[in-house]
Amino acid sequence: MNGQNEFQALDAFLLKTLVDPAFPAQLAVSGSDYSLSWQALSYAITEWVIKYRQLALDPNVPVVLYGHQQAEFAVALYSCLLHKIPYVPVDCIYPEERLQEICTLASAPYYYDIARQAFIPTGLTAQPLQQHDLAYVMFTSGSTGKPKGVQIGRESVWHFIQWVGKDFHLPDNPVLMNHAVFSFDLSLIALLANLAKNGHILLNAKENIAAEGWLTGLQSQKVSAWVSTPSFAYQKLLSPQFCSDYLPDLKVFIFIGEVLNKALVKQLRRRFPKAKIINSYGPTEATVATTVVEITDAILASDTDLLPIGTMMPDSFMEITAEGELIIWGKNVMRGYLGLDEENAQKLLTRENCPWRGYRTGDLGYSTDYLYCSGRNDSQIKLNGYRIEISEIENRILNISGVQEAVVLPLKKTGGGVLRIAAFCVSRRSSEEIKSELARVIPPYMIPGQIVIQEHLPLNPNGKIDRKLLDAQARVS
Ligand code: AMP
Repeated sequence: MNGQNEFQALDAFLLKTLVDPAFPAQLAVSGSDYSLSWQALSYAITEWVIKYRQLALDPNVPVVLYGHQQAEFAVALYSCLLHKIPYVPVDCIYPEERLQEICTLASAPYYYDIARQAFIPTGLTAQPLQQHDLAYVMFTSGSTGKPKGVQIGRESVWHFIQWVGKDFHLPDNPVLMNHAVFSFDLSLIALLANLAKNGHILLNAKENIAAEGWLTGLQSQKVSAWVSTPSFAYQKLLSPQFCSDYLPDLKVFIFIGEVLNKALVKQLRRRFPKAKIINSYGPTEATVATTVVEITDAILASDTDLLPIGTMMPDSFMEITAEGELIIWGKNVMRGYLGLDEENAQKLLTRENCPWRGYRTGDLGYSTDYLYCSGRNDSQIKLNGYRIEISEIENRILNISGVQEAVVLPLKKTGGGVLRIAAFCVSRRSSEEIKSELARVIPPYMIPGQIVIQEHLPLNPNGKIDRKLLDAQARVS
């Protein structure tokens, strides 16, 4: 099935699921604001679309959705999917200025303020997207110092919905724990699996997760599927209640977004002996996830340090270059970055006789019985699951007046993974001033924990900035 048939199949699926739900009385979404049954969700979508239609926008003009883990966010997002409105999700962890920047890059004349349940004019002139039938544009950290918009077509979303319903070991009518913000595509695993499996998604706001009693809430909701980054699950291990005696309905853990290591899987095995543990991998540019594998005892017992990322989704294949870079080819590959022709030329590939686009991931890996991901070939990092371009932070610091030089370093843990970010600057501004300037334009997770002001940056014998020395200095100070 391809082209128009795929769009029709997605439309029919969304109509069935969201307009004529199979389990109307069952809860569909519980957010930080309210809960909705499937029937109530259907009504809420109708109301949302009536409001949206009053704006009389061209169908290819994107709508920015701005909020944090409310059920209203899910209503807006599902409305956009059902009514073919390309949406741009932005979480409130992003400062106002970044919201404005994203609205400008997307030429969005309105953003929908989830908390106020209202469309807010941005003062920008509407400009329809050149790409048609887009599901969403998701902005990620960009190396040039501006976020870059990944354009995902409706055909890719449909492809993912079908796969997530089949190969992620989800129970029927799952109760899905989602912690990821909607501007991180990890959240789409739970949001779309909710549709594929007639589930109930639990949206967890940051402040609720931090509060005492959060696990008790999951227990009373009978959570059965956990979707998170490995870092998030690691933090939860600190609570003795995070175990199968306390959460007896929890049947599957789905991990994605960063390296899943054996130590975490072993601890989870002890806490949840019967739960399945799934590792999935994929960049935003390839629609949420591309590979998946259940981590069995046999895999865990293997003598490699790395766990596999799995096998490919249908209608796709992985090419591995001589340098070891992973290139994803498939129906799931993005339509391109919004307005970034040069970057598209570097990252997107086409090949004669291949119906799909290819995407150069920048990830390094290899293939044996499964695929493995062993690192990056550039300066993109993951910190607690968040994707960060180190050069975006560097550029943001250099844009602050009074800063002459800046070097940003991810400090690695022994055994891989990033512990924290440090920055070294030559500047007449103090580190506190730099931090507060940064807070206006980038989210808290991108702000270096340590900013050291120096008179000059040390050079190595080749005349380059001595990053090794700075790394050592950051570790002792
Ligand atoms: P994002 O676009 O934020 O989803 O980040 C995608 C990147 O996260 C990938 O290109 C990988 O570098 C990394 N990543 C995602 N999932 C995994 C995984 N299961 N194992 C190792 N790295 C991962």
